[in-house]
Amino acid sequence: MSESVVALFESLVGAEPPHEVPVLFDTACVMGGSIAGLLAARVLSDRARKVVIIEPDDTSAQAESRAGAPQGRQVHTLLPAGRLWIERWLPGVSQEAQDRGASLVGPDKQFVGYDHVRQAPDGVDHQFLAVGRPLLESLVRARVTALPNVSVLRAQATGLLYGDDAVAGVRFTVPGDGDQGKRAERSLAADFVVDAMGRSSRLSHWLGQDGYDEPRLERLESPVNYATALFERPVKLPELDVATVLQLFTPQYPSGGVSVAAATVIEGQQWLVMLMGYGDNRPGRTIDEFRAHCAALPAIFSDITSGGVTRDVVTYRQADSRRRHFTEAGHLPARLISTGDAVASFNPVYGQGMSSAALHASCLASYLGSSSELDKAATEFFHLQQVVVDAAWAVSAGGDAARIDAENGTEVPEEVRQQRRIVQQIAGAALVDPEVSRAFNNVSYMLRHPSTLFEPQLLQAVAATTGGAAAS
Ligand SMILES: Cc1cc2nc3c(=O)[nH]c(=O)nc-3n(C[C@H](O)[C@H](O)[C@H](O)COP(=O)(O)OP(=O)(O)OC[C@H]3O[C@@H](n4cnc5c(N)ncnc54)[C@H](O)[C@@H]3O)c2cc1C
Repeated sequence: MSESVVALFESLVGAEPPHEVPVLFDTACVMGGSIAGLLAARVLSDRARKVVIIEPDDTSAQAESRAGAPQGRQVHTLLPAGRLWIERWLPGVSQEAQDRGASLVGPDKQFVGYDHVRQAPDGVDHQFLAVGRPLLESLVRARVTALPNVSVLRAQATGLLYGDDAVAGVRFTVPGDGDQGKRAERSLAADFVVDAMGRSSRLSHWLGQDGYDEPRLERLESPVNYATALFERPVKLPELDVATVLQLFTPQYPSGGVSVAAATVIEGQQWLVMLMGYGDNRPGRTIDEFRAHCAALPAIFSDITSGGVTRDVVTYRQADSRRRHFTEAGHLPARLISTGDAVASFNPVYGQGMSSAALHASCLASYLGSSSELDKAATEFFHLQQVVVDAAWAVSAGGDAARIDAENGTEVPEEVRQQRRIVQQIAGAALVDPEVSRAFNNVSYMLRHPSTLFEPQLLQAVAATTGGAAAS
């Protein structure tokens, strides 16, 4: 991997809001008002006279769950890359979350373990915001919609309008506007449009229908089953005093089919507890089943789930990781981009989605700051975004592919086998060596590019932990 990609990735991670930049658009329209759409709207608010977010759900109140983002009831970890980005572009979100009962969790309050072996502390004070997704989303939304030029239109985008090979507006229907299925279509003129409609976005289909190229959809089947419940937090665990627990289990560990278990203290003095299994392993639909699964895990999970239940088990199944290759599409209209899960949605257990959305917003800011070719397809944007998607995909889909191949006994090319062996050694060394742990965490937290794990100095440190028989 070239140094320029590593440097580019880090510049996207550390991007600051611009000062007094020229306005480029009269009206920018963002289709989808979840995390990716809101962060894109924040970036566009510096560049458009008016930003209109089109979102079908009623988001005026903080709902525990809404139809357009059913994943909101599952555990949502905001990785340091995403948290720091949001703090720079929407200052005060972390503080307000804490004022509402969430907490910032530093390394002293985290327990990360593999088969119950605790990862070596990395000596860096990265802080996680321990918060429920609905509260986090509502705080981000409140800040973005408080910007004087941002508004939300409660409607469902149904297609695009074009002129001169560029997007010229968005077609939409409004709930309650005529009969369901026969709603009158309306339109909004816009000189820049963002698709942030999530993993089921219809944008590719619309493009195909309208005579443009449909970006290729790549899928990696990796069925994940989540079960999440909320418990009172009477148990303080004085011996550990943790606020976040993340345990990953290898197939050899007798975890009853649970591959990942996580617990975090969120607002309302509650433990948000998640169990995840792959394939046919479904970790409990009822509280009794859930607690029975916890009983097979390290004792901390029985302690955490011993309090009263504040919300029953909610399950979620996702069949695959997927990404859409916009860089391969030869003919796209100008003034159109896609962002967030609409472009790439991963195995959620890696916690990359919201931070990816933040980095995609960085790509948008960089593109708008440098491109002089807004009347051509946004190829420069999609190339920048590909750097972010490739990095996230390498970590999550790379890990999943290795697991699936190992389960199925699939033969893989020698080069891939070697690469996976090195990654395994790095993960093993991260348990005992602070330097490797730091490098590993920086990549897991999306602060650094995955290729930094293969720097010679780090591989030497890995080799030292394996008695010299390490990767090269
Ligand atoms: C089980 C699970 C757990 C997860 N855990 C984590 C985690 O720990 N950490 C993390 O960072 N990420 C996590 N994610 C991913 C995270 O939820 C998403 O990456 C994040 O919400 C950003 O997605 P998005 O805004 O692109 O799409 P979404 O959140 O899916 O939102 C899409 C939006 O588009 C709207 N929409 C849909 N159709 C239309 C239309 N026609 N017109 C207008 N609007 C439309 C929807 O109503 C919705 O508001 C998890 C996901 C799942 C499924």
